[in-house]
Amino acid sequence: MSFLKTRGIVIKEVSTGEADKIITIFSSNRGRISVMVKGGKRPKSKLAAGSQVLCYGEYVLYSGKNLYSMNSCEVLESFYEIRNDMEKLTYAAHFMDIVLEIVQENQPAPRLLQLLLNSLHMLARTEKKPELISRIFEMRSLAISGYAPSIRQCMNCGLVAEKSYSFSFEKCGFLCDREECSAQDRLSVLLSSGASRAIQHIILARMDELFSFGVSEEVLDELEHISRKYLSQQLERSFTKLDFLKSI
Ligand SMILES: [Zn+2]
Repeated sequence: MSFLKTRGIVIKEVSTGEADKIITIFSSNRGRISVMVKGGKRPKSKLAAGSQVLCYGEYVLYSGKNLYSMNSCEVLESFYEIRNDMEKLTYAAHFMDIVLEIVQENQPAPRLLQLLLNSLHMLARTEKKPELISRIFEMRSLAISGYAPSIRQCMNCGLVAEKSYSFSFEKCGFLCDREECSAQDRLSVLLSSGASRAIQHIILARMDELFSFGVSEEVLDELEHISRKYLSQQLERSFTKLDFLKSI
């Protein structure tokens, strides 16, 4: 029997049997892994805290035939500010939903893991609007995973527009307002200059500068439309966790 020692964040938990659960960890070493936690549902279990969704910890796992089983864990960050806030918790659940779709078994994705941890940190400890954090997470996680839209310049003619672009879902990127370019996709969405710049920043900025900007409510609405539609289109499914917030 071999051991795996890894850091990671719990992105899903499923109850099994009376006291056990199977959790999914987004690990730094192996990407997505499934782990049996014997007795993990018992509040007094020393594995209980570290096997909850959102917990970031250091785990020692035995590798079994089909799945790992947890030997011990040390909680590094529990994100308790998120657990105690229904709105923040809903946004965090949305991030997990996206990560579960993207991260594969045995494929480490360190940049995506860093983005997830940074986004949860922003959600937990700052006054930054959850809507904006969410748009940043959606677009940047897609970009990291190979679904970046083409946004440096007009996709058709290469022009660097001074003000704004249209976003083409069909062509996956920006088009300028020249007739021959806008004719490439008549259904492209005209963006404000603020939204054009925000999308460029989200895709291109260095990680340590990624969250260092703000936008108006109008631009935030534009970003929501573009980002959520692009997310569903690229990952070929709808993401409905945030709909809950609109119903309350
Ligand atoms: Zn053009």
